Amino acid sequence: MNTKELLQILACPKCLGSLQAMMEQNSLAGLACQTCKALYPVRNDIPVMLVEEALNLDQWRRDHPAAEEQH
Ligand SMILES: [Zn+2]
Repeated sequence: MNTKELLQILACPKCLGSLQAMMEQNSLAGLACQTCKALYPVRNDIPVMLVEEALNLDQWRRDHPAAEEQH
């Protein structure tokens, strides 16, 4: 499954909104919800879609300056 297909299936568990792929060094580093300012981390290629595991998006961006949104 590629990232695009993944994003069509996954939604933010908090607001059920759409997610944006955050790429770092050509691999999926996290899924971002702009509405909640939440970042759902990807661990071992598996997105962790849990509200309690969500990170603050702004903080995550500061910690991952090389990460880019995939368009
Ligand atoms: Zn959300």
